[in-house]
Amino acid sequence: VLIIYNALLLIALAAWRHTSDWVRRSFLYALLTVVLFRWSFAWYGADLTDTYIAVVATLIQIPTLLIAVFLMHQKRVGLGIGTSWLVTLGLVALAGSRRTVFIDDPLNDWRLGPFMVAMNLGLLIIVGWWVREREDFLAASREQIELIDAANLDPLTGLANRRSIHQHLDSLTRIRHVSVVALLDIDHFKAINDSFGHEGGDAVLCRVAEALAGAIRPSDMVGRWGGEEFVVVARGLNSSMADDLIQRLRSVVTTADVTASVGWTLWDPAEESWSEAMNRADISLYKAKESGRDRAISG
Ligand code: GH3
Ligand code: MG
Ligand code: MG
Repeated sequence: VLIIYNALLLIALAAWRHTSDWVRRSFLYALLTVVLFRWSFAWYGADLTDTYIAVVATLIQIPTLLIAVFLMHQKRVGLGIGTSWLVTLGLVALAGSRRTVFIDDPLNDWRLGPFMVAMNLGLLIIVGWWVREREDFLAASREQIELIDAANLDPLTGLANRRSIHQHLDSLTRIRHVSVVALLDIDHFKAINDSFGHEGGDAVLCRVAEALAGAIRPSDMVGRWGGEEFVVVARGLNSSMADDLIQRLRSVVTTADVTASVGWTLWDPAEESWSEAMNRADISLYKAKESGRDRAISG
């Protein structure tokens, strides 16, 4: 039984990452059953000489299993499963200790089962308390992440909002990385809203956002500057790499069945503030619009 038990544990360890909650739980129930069988065998089947080893081996496995029960269930369910399992083990021991084979043996003591249950119930309560603390902590962390996201992300597209774009530009200012600053404005977006309604327009904005986010490196940033206007900041590019990036951005935008006009510039934080670079990009964007849209102009 010990070999089966440990073989199961090894298989579980190897496959754990690839399994669903359902499989994990079934596996845990299988372990609980195996241990229950082993315990019953210790009290009812083993030769008297083996009984002690069997009892001690099982006692050693009980705490880890109780912890596993709690890790895989909510506190209440864990408490329920853990307690019923323990009490069953206790009853088996209580009944087993009355057997005549144990008549001249210290195992012939009805208090053994209840004592084992009481001892492990203490553990159950401590683990339950720890799990509740852990759940509270996780819930608080999730809430905190939601708050941070709400402060930094645009709710419609999930891109960085203006506030976090500012923060990103501030941090680039500190590390003095030459960067491309590009403003993209969707062409004739009002017409899209007019034809497909505001929700249709929103869907297009989301598709554009996704396309842009997929077209930049993880270290670069794309954000929603406002309305149908996006900003891309990419560092460490020379002007021919910047040209490639801008062409790529304009090309991915067309996957959302729209075109965009782009104004962009190279920004050297050692020379000027980001708002000066942003103004220059804005003027270039205006020129791109004036000269017919669906094009990029650098300044
Ligand atoms: P241009 O080519 O000159 O950029 O024309 P345009 O129609 O894209 O530009 P304009 O500034 O005239 O209109 C922008 C439109 O974008 C007007 C506004 O209703 C719409 N818009 C702004 N924010 C949102 C949004 O969050 N959702 C939707 N659906 N529309 C928006
Ligand atoms: Mg606009
Ligand atoms: Mg526009």
